[in-house]
Amino acid sequence: LVRLRSRLSRSQSTLGKGLLTLLSRDRLDDDTWEEIEDTLLTADVGVAATQELVENLRTRVKVLGTRTPDELRALLREELINLIGPDFDRTVRSVKHEEGPAVVLVVGVNGVGKTTTTGKLARVLVADGRRVVLGAADTFRAAAADQLQTWGERVGAHTVRGPEGGDPASVAFDAVKQGITEGVDTVLVDTAGRLHTKTGLMDELGKVKRVVEKHGPVDEVLLVLDATTGQNGLVQARVFAEVVDITGIVLTKLDGTAKGGIVVSVQRELGVPVKLIGLGEGADDLAPFEPGAFVDALLG
Ligand code: GDP
Repeated sequence: LVRLRSRLSRSQSTLGKGLLTLLSRDRLDDDTWEEIEDTLLTADVGVAATQELVENLRTRVKVLGTRTPDELRALLREELINLIGPDFDRTVRSVKHEEGPAVVLVVGVNGVGKTTTTGKLARVLVADGRRVVLGAADTFRAAAADQLQTWGERVGAHTVRGPEGGDPASVAFDAVKQGITEGVDTVLVDTAGRLHTKTGLMDELGKVKRVVEKHGPVDEVLLVLDATTGQNGLVQARVFAEVVDITGIVLTKLDGTAKGGIVVSVQRELGVPVKLIGLGEGADDLAPFEPGAFVDALLG
């Protein structure tokens, strides 16, 4: 929690502290509630969620009558956790099944941290005793396959790659085949994220998925979004969701933004849980997303 707190310090000082300071005012008048609303909106919580939170808080504060800072903090904590949704299943489905290894596709626009996330996730799984094969299906960014292979070597996983500019679907297919041959638990496939034309992306990602499914089901499609891009990230999320069924969201670079509220808006946008969060560039900086711990870190 200490580490999470320090990595989320930018969101904590703006969102968490901001809300607590406003709530501790002597009089919670309309202006204060408006400021609370602004604070939430600035942190990218989103309009509908912000209104819902403020309404719930207002009602509960009224009902409560007397209020101590501790009571208010507890109320805020509870409402924030409710907003994030404590009931989502946030496990990354990575357990091998009868037909073969679990297959995880990692998708997202270039630069959001896809390759890094794939590498970090491999590390987490291997540390957990799983055997992993990596597929470098981002054949368009020259350095991506090298980068992924370096991660693979670090964790002792084979990286399947193709010729530069080659067909991503064929690399993905080969990676799963390799995973079956080696009898590993999980195959993680890093995909290309060129978004210049939606149809291009649609064709490519759709094909990757279809081709991989010749071996068996795809267990997870993780959409990686850069938390620092705000509304832009939501636009990307929408485009990807039209192309493939997203099963989980990875929010990266939460260490570099005060807009931690994006967790709420992106989940609402897609109706899919945030499963992992990126908290830095280091190998250990990928964490499972736990609403309680996240809110505790935000509230400092
Ligand atoms: P890709 O093009 O989506 O595969 O992106 P990369 O994995 O190459 O990452 C792009 C940059 O973002 C790299 O410099 C990463 O180190 C950095 N990055 C990835 N995840 C995080 C994170 O959670 N926090 C921070 N601060 N940087 C990150």
